[in-house]
Amino acid sequence: MKKKEIEQISERLISKPKLVWDAIDKKEKDKVFGFDREYKNFLGTAKTEREAVTVISEIARKNGFSSNPPGNHPIKLLKTFQEKLIALSISGKKPIYEEVDLAFMKTHYYGGIKKFQWLTRPLAIHGKVIRSDGSSLDIVVGEDDSDPVFTVADILPHLAKKVQTDKKVSEAFVGEKLNLMVGSIPFGDKDTKERFKLAILNLLNERFGLVEEDLISAELEVVPAGIARDVGWDRGLTGAYGHDDRSCVFTSLKAIIDIKNPQKTALVLFVDKEEIGSDGATGAKSRFVESVLADLMVAHGKEPLYHEIHKILMNSKALSADVNGALDPDFQDVHEKRNAARLGYGICLTKFTGAGGKYGASDANAEYVGWLRNLFNKKKVVWQTGELGKVDEGGGGTVAKFLALYGLQVIDCGPSILSMHSPFEIAHKGDIYMTYKGYRAFLES
Ligand code: MN
Repeated sequence: MKKKEIEQISERLISKPKLVWDAIDKKEKDKVFGFDREYKNFLGTAKTEREAVTVISEIARKNGFSSNPPGNHPIKLLKTFQEKLIALSISGKKPIYEEVDLAFMKTHYYGGIKKFQWLTRPLAIHGKVIRSDGSSLDIVVGEDDSDPVFTVADILPHLAKKVQTDKKVSEAFVGEKLNLMVGSIPFGDKDTKERFKLAILNLLNERFGLVEEDLISAELEVVPAGIARDVGWDRGLTGAYGHDDRSCVFTSLKAIIDIKNPQKTALVLFVDKEEIGSDGATGAKSRFVESVLADLMVAHGKEPLYHEIHKILMNSKALSADVNGALDPDFQDVHEKRNAARLGYGICLTKFTGAGGKYGASDANAEYVGWLRNLFNKKKVVWQTGELGKVDEGGGGTVAKFLALYGLQVIDCGPSILSMHSPFEIAHKGDIYMTYKGYRAFLES
């Protein structure tokens, strides 16, 4: 066989990952950067699940979504729960009970972190406090340039030998020592009891009208202070806190906002608590989706019968929108290079997650993966596949298996990122854009 022929055969048979920059033209490159500007703005304003739900609601309402939508087509439904869970749905031309496309999202909470990464850096507090009279207060401190910030201090290297340096990393940094520094000027004189604590309580009282007991009924989240930044001379990457999983939140929000008249009903569900097992009333294990479907059926003038809802779910297709770990250039050994997602190669399909023999995984079936792959190819979505790490190297789970409980088709699908779960995660602008394009193609299909 001639060399040329062999080349042709290999061209035809071997799948080659495509770098986004190679696959798109100048016009689409501009779109990538335009999309990133909006995304960075979102990253700056929606740092917690509550803030994300607020921002998502605002954008959705501006685009015609409502919690009480008028009956005329297409019905654009918005439903929130406990300010931490939100669903957006746009009805399709076909009746709802035939098939509903579902995509489920979540906002980042807390979860698996490397504790030492959170030391010695400026941190902000975002949260909600319920006062004794029942009134509530949203707090954001540390984001404005004139705000103070907070921090967790660390021992100087000169004295770290015994307590940190000689220990295993997992033992050197203990959760109990992650104490947030919030003040240094005392109240009263040296005879005043607990005068530093009192000073802070006094400040909180002056500024927010709070007393100590109010803090018991507060949800305060400590996040890295500051905004999303372009990374690298060429600005091709975006560095920010919480790409996992706001990259999927923002891209799916944009996707459902931008589709106009889908064939089938499209639903995006933004769920809380993914990083801590999806438990709780606002996590993916909750039955919120059933309630959303019941509302949709009512909006369509149908009786929300239990078995109808389950029929819809069993006939649905879903993307579990979550990030994957990109091949780390400095730690390539923990990945299986032939099956690792790479920055810049587009949205990543992860057929299965789990660990140790796919334990705990929701494994997408071949027919579904085949359907999605063809869709992405047809819509010119640059995509790749990726496994989370080498066999037996570790692993992780997503919301996919909780959606799969309903019998729907589901696969994990999202951008791959570097430095996952760190205060400054890195995403590729081309991947973020292709994620939007992929989700949109899915919701429109
Ligand atoms: Mn995560």
